[in-house]
Amino acid sequence: TTSDPILPDSLASVRADVRRTPAYPFTPIDTPVKLDQNESPLDFPEDLKRLALERAVQKPWNRYPDLNADTLREKIAQFEDWDPRGVIVTPGSNVLIKLLTEMSGIGQTVLTVKPTFAVYELEALMLGAKLVEVPLNEDFSLPLQGLERELQGGPGVFYVTEPHAPTGFLDTESDVARLVEAAGERWTTVIDEAYHQYSGSDYRNLARGHENRLIVRTFSKAWGLAGLRLGYALTSPALASELQKLVPAFNINVMTQAAIEVALEYPEYVRERAQATVAERGRMLEALRAHPTWRALPSSTNFFLVRTPDAGAAYQALIDHGVLTRRQDKGYLLEGCLRVSVGLPEENDRFLAAAMQIQAG
Ligand code: PMP
Repeated sequence: TTSDPILPDSLASVRADVRRTPAYPFTPIDTPVKLDQNESPLDFPEDLKRLALERAVQKPWNRYPDLNADTLREKIAQFEDWDPRGVIVTPGSNVLIKLLTEMSGIGQTVLTVKPTFAVYELEALMLGAKLVEVPLNEDFSLPLQGLERELQGGPGVFYVTEPHAPTGFLDTESDVARLVEAAGERWTTVIDEAYHQYSGSDYRNLARGHENRLIVRTFSKAWGLAGLRLGYALTSPALASELQKLVPAFNINVMTQAAIEVALEYPEYVRERAQATVAERGRMLEALRAHPTWRALPSSTNFFLVRTPDAGAAYQALIDHGVLTRRQDKGYLLEGCLRVSVGLPEENDRFLAAAMQIQAG
């Protein structure tokens, strides 16, 4: 018998790494204003929804979908100016992160920074990889020397997020280039660009022509399609062939394939909405300058951090005013921080009005 309550004997068949890994940290709470998940506040345009449904209706639902979603991969390749043999799709980029950690992390190393996106950590822990996290600089920029030192090790998978989550910081292309060069052949180097439409950055050229580098992108943020679940990787044909072995067959359903294909045919709305979000972010940061105790931190994404005297109290007080944000105060360098997604102007007004009434929190 064991006295460890996390490892009861009745679950002895479940690997200890899994039992020791915390669940994805997320508390769904129903509030009128939802600024907790960095989603687009606007839905996919209704006429495009209808077009996607019509296309899905025309496809058979009794048959399995296209094995590796080849048509969809081809369309993503065209949109991204990439070799279609190097495109991999999964139901959300979370799944890609799991598969990349399986491919290059198990029995090896997962290297990232701290604070970082929780999924890199959770997958590393669950899959029993060695997790190495180098603390970010105090201004949230990448710790170049510390990472270069760790990159001497390996092999493994190296995650860089540009712009970064949860800080919203964008590193220069030359700093990121320096690290991916240092990673060399020993690492599968992943540049996660989940939020790049808001920063206007595009680091595809750091991966183009290199066998073991990937760009990871998602339809969940600027595209406003989080509900459909689609993420993708842009990489070399050689690495894509290896990664594809880990992707479950038929993993993108008929409906998602149809809808994402429609989105790629009518992508104009994305840029316009991202610009509106960036303008709103500027307005919110400016308004918060007048707050007596909170300090909002600059960001290159559709969310920002706000440092409060007491994150728990501030989080609850905002909920009492009908606004849900995300606590982030447990992370390194993030004492007192809440993460706030930029919503629609009226939602942001409601957040700002509530914030101004909360001082102690
Ligand atoms: N990477 C980063 C940095 C993210 O913030 C997120 C969304 N929380 C993801 C990946 C995963 O997004 P999805 O699975 O919806 O594609």
